[in-house]
Amino acid sequence: MKILIATANRGKLTEIRAILGDLDGQIVGLDEIDAPPPVAETGLTFLENARLKARYYAAHSGLISIADDSGLCVTALGDRPGVFSARFAGPDAADAENNELLLAQMRDVADRRARFVCVTVCAKPSGEYIAEEGSCDGVLLDEPRGFDGFGYDPLFFVPEYNLTFAEMPRELKNRISHRARSLVQLKRKLPDFLAAK
Ligand code: IMP
Repeated sequence: MKILIATANRGKLTEIRAILGDLDGQIVGLDEIDAPPPVAETGLTFLENARLKARYYAAHSGLISIADDSGLCVTALGDRPGVFSARFAGPDAADAENNELLLAQMRDVADRRARFVCVTVCAKPSGEYIAEEGSCDGVLLDEPRGFDGFGYDPLFFVPEYNLTFAEMPRELKNRISHRARSLVQLKRKLPDFLAAK
């Protein structure tokens, strides 16, 4: 059985493959199928966006499809940028631009608490789906640290490990991240979901 990982974000695809690596069946990315054009992420919650992506790609490809929606929720910013994390500085904003805007908005802000949230959805071509949410708490630094990962990783510091997401070994991020937590929970539910007619 083929399972489509419905993301065009290479950073996310790498992480999802690593986490689901030992899953039965063949994992394929969007670049390995005749993929439809991207779907507009019109949802206002992580669940809405993850569900619409998973269902869209499942319906178009005929494959069981896994999609996620994730973002950074900053306490002092009323949980922004949240679902708008990828587009914080504009529709096609680069990671560096988003990070600069975040640093500017957090200048002189004492409360540095932030949380990465991820909702992962697995959908069948019929539209049936399961969803799981995961999160990871941290604090925002006032300058980037580390070179690995993607997105806001260099600004997201996890006090428990004394490292940013961009500094920690991949294997550690893939164990403690919001994406890992939601995927591991989803993976546990997959056998029953896939077996059900
Ligand atoms: P999505 O592709 O709509 O889920 O957008 C997710 C956006 O949230 C990314 O483009 C990043 O800006 C941010 N983000 C989500 N997960 C991570 C992560 O693990 N590290 C850094 N940034 C992330």
